[in-house]
Amino acid sequence: MIHVGINGYGTIGKRVADAVRKQPDMEVVGVAKTRPNFEASSAVEKGFDLYAAVEERKPRFAEAGIDLAGDVEELVEQSDIVVDACPSGIGADNAEMYEEYDTPALLQGGEDAEVVDGSFNARSNFDTVEGMDLVRVVSCNTTGLSRLVAPLQEEYGIEKVRATLVRRGGDPAQSGRGPINDILPNPVELPSHHGPDVNTIFPDLEIDTLGLKVPATLMHTHSINVTLQSNPDAEAVRELLDDERRTFVIPEWLGLDGAGAIKELAQDAGRPRADIWENCIWGESITVEGDDLYLFQAIHQESDVVPENVDAIRAVLGTKSQSESIATTDEAMGLDD
Ligand code: NAD
Repeated sequence: MIHVGINGYGTIGKRVADAVRKQPDMEVVGVAKTRPNFEASSAVEKGFDLYAAVEERKPRFAEAGIDLAGDVEELVEQSDIVVDACPSGIGADNAEMYEEYDTPALLQGGEDAEVVDGSFNARSNFDTVEGMDLVRVVSCNTTGLSRLVAPLQEEYGIEKVRATLVRRGGDPAQSGRGPINDILPNPVELPSHHGPDVNTIFPDLEIDTLGLKVPATLMHTHSINVTLQSNPDAEAVRELLDDERRTFVIPEWLGLDGAGAIKELAQDAGRPRADIWENCIWGESITVEGDDLYLFQAIHQESDVVPENVDAIRAVLGTKSQSESIATTDEAMGLDD
């Protein structure tokens, strides 16, 4: 059994905790929180041991009637590996603590690549992180782009990727984020950070990315152009992407015209939190003009990195091969359903 600690129990941390708990070879030691809010309460209801991330705030848990199992340092000490899902920048601050207890840790996409020993995407570079102390599971957008690049590069070769990322303004619970009535080039200058971030997974890939932010919370949408080194027909590309485990090529007849309908499908399917762990690629958007491939894909920012975190645990500890890990993760989470 791999004993996993989760430090930071917000949007990503709570999903990773649930996914880890479902794995046949993993156990959640506990989760660390800074304050007693609704997420702390639901962690307790789910039976996760709660650890205090900030010493001075411990009395607030007692006031809220929430029992603590200990301090975050104890969680780190008892864990074989920690998934750090704290807000951007805090993971880097926590690195010293993980080093002190000699516990490897996974940081998330909001952290700088320079802080870690390696960046991770299960489909693209699973075998590169074994034995590392600090590994970053790349962001939702970089995960979505990497899952697309890997099969295309292997099958056809890639000359260049150009991607425009239409990004949600905030997650559904982030009421302070925006814009609420605008369309913002973000960042205005090129490239957006996503291209260089994809290069942490594919160092030699030619990629330009542009970002926009829009008043939406449900998903990101990518408009993709990949210049290939060969010119397959669109149907072959469609089949290639359809055969991938974590890409869902949306058939036209499903009538999914946007993120709202995709989320509705996830709810109807009984997915936890209506999560969509796969890239959702509109089948009829897959078009090849000469050696240029075009498509649209939607990325659920809150959940596509969750199976990646689970795989990163095995990849760092070297307990399963890439294909065994991905299959185990997907089966346990119900990703194939
Ligand atoms: P979040 O704000 O929803 O959750 C972070 C949690 O960590 C909160 O519960 C917060 O109270 C807690 N926290 C703050 N300081 C802490 C500390 N010192 N110790 C322990 N816990 C602490 O954030 P999130 O959206 O889950 O993002 C976490 C990381 O995942 C970031 O690096 C982010 O960039 C990355 N990420 C986020 C998304 C997304 O869309 N939400 C997608 C992919 C990656």
